[in-house]
Amino acid sequence: MARLVMKFGGTSVADIDRIRNVARHVKREVAAGHEIAVIVSAMAGTTNALVDWCREAAALHDAREYDAVVASGEQVSAGLLAITLESMGINARSWQGWQLPIRTSDAHGAARILEINGAELIKRFKERGEVAVIAGFQGVHAQTSRITTLGRGGSDTSAVAIAAAISADRCDIYTDVDGVYTTDPRVVSKARRLDKIAYEEMLELASLGAKVLQVRSVELAMVHNVRIFVRSSFDEPESIDPHAAPPGTLICGEEEIVEQQVVTGIAFSKDEAQISIRRVADKPGVAAAIFGPLADASINVDMIVQNVSADGATTDLTFTVPAADYERATSVLTGAKGKIGYQRLDGATDVAKVSVIGVGMRSHAGVAARAFKALAENQINIRAITTSEIKFSLLIDANYTELAVRTLHSLYELDK
Ligand code: ASP
Ligand code: MG
Repeated sequence: MARLVMKFGGTSVADIDRIRNVARHVKREVAAGHEIAVIVSAMAGTTNALVDWCREAAALHDAREYDAVVASGEQVSAGLLAITLESMGINARSWQGWQLPIRTSDAHGAARILEINGAELIKRFKERGEVAVIAGFQGVHAQTSRITTLGRGGSDTSAVAIAAAISADRCDIYTDVDGVYTTDPRVVSKARRLDKIAYEEMLELASLGAKVLQVRSVELAMVHNVRIFVRSSFDEPESIDPHAAPPGTLICGEEEIVEQQVVTGIAFSKDEAQISIRRVADKPGVAAAIFGPLADASINVDMIVQNVSADGATTDLTFTVPAADYERATSVLTGAKGKIGYQRLDGATDVAKVSVIGVGMRSHAGVAARAFKALAENQINIRAITTSEIKFSLLIDANYTELAVRTLHSLYELDK
């Protein structure tokens, strides 16, 4: 017997038929003797529609009321799943965030989970064999008792937090893909599903645009050592052996991965823009003068490369921002030109960032050097390079993204 969290996203509960399918997945695990907490998202499209309504009602609206509106989607799907399970003869009860409660901060629209009391759920597993169906995405602020939401995609984070609170053996994320891949299969047909990936690697992949999981859910899983299993919700529920390992990807601690590859995956993003500030004074406080105003404007800066000054007086500084923020960033910097003191500002939006990720890089030298050689052989120019312990990122012309990703994918033997 195990204690499992099963999380289903919006497409998996898009209509009553799909909800019935979810219920059959739950039934299979209950029949196998497991204790089950299910976390559901709102039915596909619902949250977007609710967000649109808030905007239509008033472009500027109170975040507390936004939360009151958008949290409702999950209330519906949780209730519907509980009804469906009951109709199949399975003991089930729905729970909203305030009922458990899932206590959060008061950052409405992007609240952080502070505390969940899992005792009542565990008691009901034991005493009644009851399945808990929990509305994802939402919580309650402890002091004001107002409903909060966790940010878009937040029901992944709900699922991991519940798994930690009830000490679940595993947190199964059922989704429309059957796992985490070495890279985007739409770009590289030879992309492979990974059996296992370490938390840190998944964090890099998730924040670099592999949209499988909300980044915060992976952070939370790493802190609490929750094993996440990403699997398909479209498999025939009864065709799965609940005692065998199904297809999917386990996100776990490094120590659980025995045969570690040097490189695990390749992520890329075309939504990048490059900004270069030329001949900026090489003196203390300049970086602060540049990045302070960008931070104040909530613009996320990613790669940062600064040259060592040749003449001791001026230097060049290059960094990337999300393409959507490019115009805003350049106008902030132009506005602060007097304060910063630079000669010229260059920018480009037709750039892409390609990142190579693997915890094996910690113990292997020369991993990045091989990439530089392979890209050079393909006439791909590298604009900027940044590295960390388990990753390096290359900024290149957007036109070469697919070629670069494919080249690196086979270079690091991810094709086979
Ligand atoms: N329904 C919410 C959203 O669409 C939360 C989630 O699906 O994870 O963002
Ligand atoms: Mg999601």
